Amino acid sequence: THFGFATVAEEEKASKVAEVFHSVASRYDLMNDVMSGGLHRLWKIFAIEQSGVRTGGKVLDVAGGSADLSLQFAKKVGPTGQVILTDINSSMLTVGRDRLLDAGYNPTAAQCDGEKLPFPSNYFDCVTVAFGLRNMTHKDAALKEMYRVIKPGGRVLVLEFSKVAAPLRPLYDLYSFKLLPVMGKLIANDEASYRYLAESIRMHPDQETLKQMMEDAGLERVEYFNLTGGVVALHKGFKL
Ligand code: SAM
Repeated sequence: THFGFATVAEEEKASKVAEVFHSVASRYDLMNDVMSGGLHRLWKIFAIEQSGVRTGGKVLDVAGGSADLSLQFAKKVGPTGQVILTDINSSMLTVGRDRLLDAGYNPTAAQCDGEKLPFPSNYFDCVTVAFGLRNMTHKDAALKEMYRVIKPGGRVLVLEFSKVAAPLRPLYDLYSFKLLPVMGKLIANDEASYRYLAESIRMHPDQETLKQMMEDAGLERVEYFNLTGGVVALHKGFKL
């Protein structure tokens, strides 16, 4: 294959992900608000709080898309700090970069694969990936890369859909498998992308599995916080 090592299934996943995000880019923010009832904003605020990022800090936003996190980090680090927005998808990256520009920042935006980060080792204070790891084909490689580029003392934050608590499950299944694709069709005329979203959430490792994967990548003191009954979890790990 042209990736050298990718199987047909892996290539299919990568091109499906590319197709989904080219297709939703312009309506992505609206859909996020509608489908999470605005909750994604609270989940992201929690992630920022857990980042430990201060004035002058260096932050890498992997799979940063429309730059929700980058924007908040840019405010936090101030003019002496550095925030780099990255995404594999040019449509999403353009939306994010324009948003940072419109907010008065002079963004560094780089199109790159989270599995192969074009940054030096031991450089960032914090690396985040919000709702992006799920889309990556080789999650172990991506986590190793995030570990590599943080400084000793730095942290990796993974904000991602996770496994909901048992009592919430029937309601959640109804919402994500039945309602979500219908909303995707009504609002974005794109049922397939939102069906992919529901399926990719089901396939994603649960809280404990992801914690173990982060430890396997080298991260230490890994812990996670369940948000909204485990609909989402924030995982945090350090390089010591
Ligand atoms: N982080 C943003 C947020 O929280 O709103 C965007 C999340 S969006 C659901 C997922 C993003 O992951 C998309 O912009 C997509 O292009 C990006 N993505 C998918 N696979 C990727 C990869 N291998 N490397 C980097 N970004 C990737």
